Amino acid sequence: MPTGLDERERAFLRQAAEFCRAHVDPACEQWEKEEFLPREIFTQAGNVGLMGMLVLPGLGGQGLSFVAYAHVIIELARHYAALALDIATHNSLCLGHILAFGSQAQMQRLVPRLASGEWLAAWALSEPQAGSDCGGMETTAVETQTGWELCGHKTFITQGRRADVLVVLAKTGTAANGQKELSAFLLPKEQVQLVRKIPTYGMKASDTAEIRFEHAKAELLGQRGHGRAQALIMLDRGRIGIAALAVGIAQAAFSAARQHAVQREQFGHPIADFQAIQWMLADSATELEAAELLTLHAAFLQDQGRRTPKESAMAKLFASEAATRICNRALQIHGGYGYSRDLPMERYLRDIKLCEIAEGTSEIQRLVITRQLLKEV
Ligand SMILES: Cc1cc2nc3c(=O)[nH]c(=O)nc-3n(C[C@H](O)[C@H](O)[C@H](O)COP(=O)(O)OP(=O)(O)OC[C@H]3O[C@@H](n4cnc5c(N)ncnc54)[C@H](O)[C@@H]3O)c2cc1C
Repeated sequence: MPTGLDERERAFLRQAAEFCRAHVDPACEQWEKEEFLPREIFTQAGNVGLMGMLVLPGLGGQGLSFVAYAHVIIELARHYAALALDIATHNSLCLGHILAFGSQAQMQRLVPRLASGEWLAAWALSEPQAGSDCGGMETTAVETQTGWELCGHKTFITQGRRADVLVVLAKTGTAANGQKELSAFLLPKEQVQLVRKIPTYGMKASDTAEIRFEHAKAELLGQRGHGRAQALIMLDRGRIGIAALAVGIAQAAFSAARQHAVQREQFGHPIADFQAIQWMLADSATELEAAELLTLHAAFLQDQGRRTPKESAMAKLFASEAATRICNRALQIHGGYGYSRDLPMERYLRDIKLCEIAEGTSEIQRLVITRQLLKEV
């Protein structure tokens, strides 16, 4: 498949792969056991430009196209998905939100430190009563004489405990249509109370956190009352990142399964000779290619400056569900070895499930797609 990347982006992608071979592959099984990513790996990622991929060089970033960014997330996810998730969230949701809606002063102050990896960022929308439906949001921001103050509770926040800066969505009143008025805020880590790291089924080393705010001093990000619209724009981009994550995990699972099918012999033949295995490989290869095409297509449209609610939702929906099937088949092709924790097949299957949930579940993607389809009638 043509990558659509220029020479500089291809070189960056090669460098990302080299970074993974040198720093991620040797350590990731240990991180998985410890359910923890060392801070150092983000510094190292920053040193090779992975923490500011979409930031223009003038602010210390790489200025990659969204297509190139998607390719890099695919590459990272092939190696270790929990790290890819944290890096994708940092680049696309958090830095992306500041780049899209921050003032010049906010950008100058925050972006270079985030793009270099000196600081980490988190993006906090979800709450105990506001998951698929942000209308349940209870976190409230009040404007006082000394600035904005936030009180509330956020959950499932990637990098929530270790972020130096958080983009937080909060209720600031009631909109003209009767819905809650939402606005986005910037919070420094000193204003955040850390509740716990949430133990998860997959993506174990990623810092999935529950956090609270009590009269936390915050800074408005973009215009008051535009939080809901801003979040939807960010999710259009973030969902492409989750689709890329799914493609990367599925690529790793598929290539291991194909290799195993050729090497493993039973009944005097490589198991790849059996039609049952061949059909699993054929279905997986086909779905994988379709998932990658949908993902890169949505990324390409983002590069054209388009809003992509339907295309992002389709990419995330198809890529995550196809990748779950691919990882399941890959484990099956490995038999008992796939089920053992000696191989990463069981990790792929645990990690991939997150892609059907985060940044909107598959059910919500179907709602988004249908809403767009019906507008087109
Ligand atoms: C590891 C991890 C990392 C995350 N990182 C972040 C982050 O960095 N920032 C952040 O803000 N959030 C984050 N999230 C939260 C994630 O986006 C939410 O979990 C997700 O949006 C679903 O919300 P919920 O868990 O409250 O499920 P619910 O909304 O309670 O949904 C439960 C079930 O009901 C279904 N459902 C709900 N409404 C409908 C409907 N209208 N029609 C049909 N079915 C419906 C859902 O599809 C799902 O199957 C993360 C989650 C996880 C697990």
